[in-house]
Amino acid sequence: MFCPKCKSEYRDGFYKCADCGVDLVAQIPPEPEVGYVDLVEVYSTYQQSDIAFIKSVFDGEGITYFFEGESSIMLVAAGAYARLLVKAEEVQRAKEILQDLGFIERI
Ligand SMILES: [Zn+2]
Repeated sequence: MFCPKCKSEYRDGFYKCADCGVDLVAQIPPEPEVGYVDLVEVYSTYQQSDIAFIKSVFDGEGITYFFEGESSIMLVAAGAYARLLVKAEEVQRAKEILQDLGFIERI
């Protein structure tokens, strides 16, 4: 028997983890998937204002996005930029929105 929380193994006859107080299980459930999704870069910018604006629009559109590097305080000074990543299946929609907003060229 195993504690699902702290993963301690117990001999038969134990039903609760002495440390956690949770019911023991016969098998430790598999770790949940780390939610791996393919993220695709659709845009990058140096502008904090662009980032804020795109976020508000994408939030409104329900698009899952991730800005990589946006937390960098030295964003501009370092010459770094924030990369806008979205899920692969939402790339098309994200690009259409960015095109509508004039952030990227229509192809
Ligand atoms: Zn435990």
